[in-house]
Amino acid sequence: MSATKNILDTHKDFPTLKRMINGKPLVYFDNGATAQKPQLVIDRINDYYQNENANIHRGVHTLSQDATSAYEEARRKIQVLINAPLEEEVIFTKGTTDGINLIANGFSRGFLNSGDEVIISEMEHHSNIVPWQMACEYTGATLKVAPMNDEGELIFEAFEALLSAKTKLVAITHVSNTLGTINPAKDIVRVAHAKGIPVLFDGAQSVQHMAIDVQDLDCEFYVFGGHKMFGPTGIGVLYGKKEWLDKLPPYQGGGDMIKTVSFEKTTYNDLPYKFEAGTPNIAGGIGLGAAVDYLNTIDWNEVHTHEQGLLKYATEQILQIEGIKIIGTAKNKAGVLSFVHDKAHHYDIGTILDQLGIAIRTGHHCTEPLMHRCKITGTARASFAFYNTKEEIDVFIAALKRALKMLL
Ligand code: PLP
Repeated sequence: MSATKNILDTHKDFPTLKRMINGKPLVYFDNGATAQKPQLVIDRINDYYQNENANIHRGVHTLSQDATSAYEEARRKIQVLINAPLEEEVIFTKGTTDGINLIANGFSRGFLNSGDEVIISEMEHHSNIVPWQMACEYTGATLKVAPMNDEGELIFEAFEALLSAKTKLVAITHVSNTLGTINPAKDIVRVAHAKGIPVLFDGAQSVQHMAIDVQDLDCEFYVFGGHKMFGPTGIGVLYGKKEWLDKLPPYQGGGDMIKTVSFEKTTYNDLPYKFEAGTPNIAGGIGLGAAVDYLNTIDWNEVHTHEQGLLKYATEQILQIEGIKIIGTAKNKAGVLSFVHDKAHHYDIGTILDQLGIAIRTGHHCTEPLMHRCKITGTARASFAFYNTKEEIDVFIAALKRALKMLL
């Protein structure tokens, strides 16, 4: 499909964005938590349940074959979207968290030993901390944390200095959900590969902001969820290089992931099914395929220009308000604006903004260690998607000023 849609026309494609909240038109700035769904995705899921609902793989009847084709077609759409070399390198998961757990679980069973190290960074989401802590606990390996500077940028030399013969994996976020920092993914891979170390990227926050090319990144694993990229919840993707997916053990046992089963011995299925035990989220997969269809109608360069424009404008506007401090001022940032106020609590700000129709997120954003690093308990976070507008930022800034007047 050709990239034709004007980015300024996309707002109307998302029905939830037409809602009134407390008598005010919704301004949705919580895209970092989950993105809204275009009508196309909603209709596709509805159509699946209305006309095609059946279990997939192994069914000889028409409905099952239709559902199987739609589900497998979605896998191919993802393959093209992220430029994965092989279809079987695209594993459907429940989401980002599930994908990271799959890899952490696999590494715990034969790929990590006492004395080995896994490297993460200070800006990770709990989803890219806890599975590795668990893996280290089981295996006796050690978790090493690469530091960031006060702007929220990875201190690259310090990261590089952590890489050693003991390092078995680097697992790092591509884009920070709290700070917006875009990490230097290709440089990370370059220095890790120079020492023979595989790299996993947590792509939860990148897939809604930029085109992802896993061959260009050359990472071993790239993990993301459907719901932050305008698709359904409960579905996600693990991309892995075939050589790695072939050698990692299966995550869960059950139907679909087997070739033969006897009470004495089971042989496992080929990729991607080896990692997809049980009835999958069929509607979710098909809905995610529709989200890719939608993304194929927009131009990522336009998305970038538009979102950077929103970020710059919102940053300039918010800094004019007394007492505001932005948390996360990296040079290379996605459309995420986290802030604190020296007198007003972020929770109170979020609550009043909701009364004024504006959805932002408040709290630690599942990055408690990062909050400790910044010596704060939480932030208020406005996170933008391509369907947001400059006018919405004006509404947000005016409402924020009003909220602060009420609170101070
Ligand atoms: N990683 C990052 C950077 C995130 O922002 C999130 C969700 O906010 C996750 C992982 C976890 O995603 P999910 O809860 O959809 O599995």
